Amino acid sequence: MDIAQSYKEFIQELAQVCQECGRDANDVTVVAVSKTVGAPEIEQAANGGATNFGENRPERLEEMHDLFPEYSWHFIGNIQSRRLKDVVGRATLIHSLFQESHARKISELACAQGIEQRVLLEVNVSGEESKSGLTPQDTKALLDVCLELPGIVPCGLMTMAPLGDEQEARRDFAGLRELLNQLQSGLSQVDAAQFSELSMGMTNDWRIAVREGATIVRPGRCIFSPNFR
Ligand SMILES: *Cc1c(COP(=O)(O)O)cnc(C)c1O
Repeated sequence: MDIAQSYKEFIQELAQVCQECGRDANDVTVVAVSKTVGAPEIEQAANGGATNFGENRPERLEEMHDLFPEYSWHFIGNIQSRRLKDVVGRATLIHSLFQESHARKISELACAQGIEQRVLLEVNVSGEESKSGLTPQDTKALLDVCLELPGIVPCGLMTMAPLGDEQEARRDFAGLRELLNQLQSGLSQVDAAQFSELSMGMTNDWRIAVREGATIVRPGRCIFSPNFR
């Protein structure tokens, strides 16, 4: 299978879905989730036009970022406090922040490097027990902590919908969008303009996510493995 072609086909289908729902495809960033493949496959996707990649392990993010510093690397995995030093500064965007202690650590590390680390707050919209993330009600408190801290910039929200239930996915994505709107309305104009990203949608449900307003989608298998196209 030709991964460059697979990426191009994804972009074509994204353009089609955007057209159907009256959105501009330029408003949706595609993060190709490369966690299951190696450097050659990443290069193939890049040959097809991919520039944003997602990794869920700190050691992989470090390795791939340092191998391909010309691309943007997104951290989408579980945050471990002692590995944050490998992630801060390398990640264009950390998608999976939901603990205050991690926000404080990110702030410290970013300040030490003299940078600003962009983050998304991960929300467990469906309330599934097996999923990590903030409850919608607790999200504002962590947002306020991030806004107070130096070196960390809250840029929006991220969620994962339960697998295999389209109705639930649609509800979750719509719920995340409503939560973003609600939180934005309590912010200054400057903060609200910055706090505007909705990272939602994977191989199974990215079309639904785009229709519900995703500004970032995170497809993995449908780009990198032949069986999912
Ligand atoms: C693995 C992963 C993806 C990609 O999932 P696919 O089903 O392969 O598209 C997206 N987001 C997160 C957080 C992941 O862990």
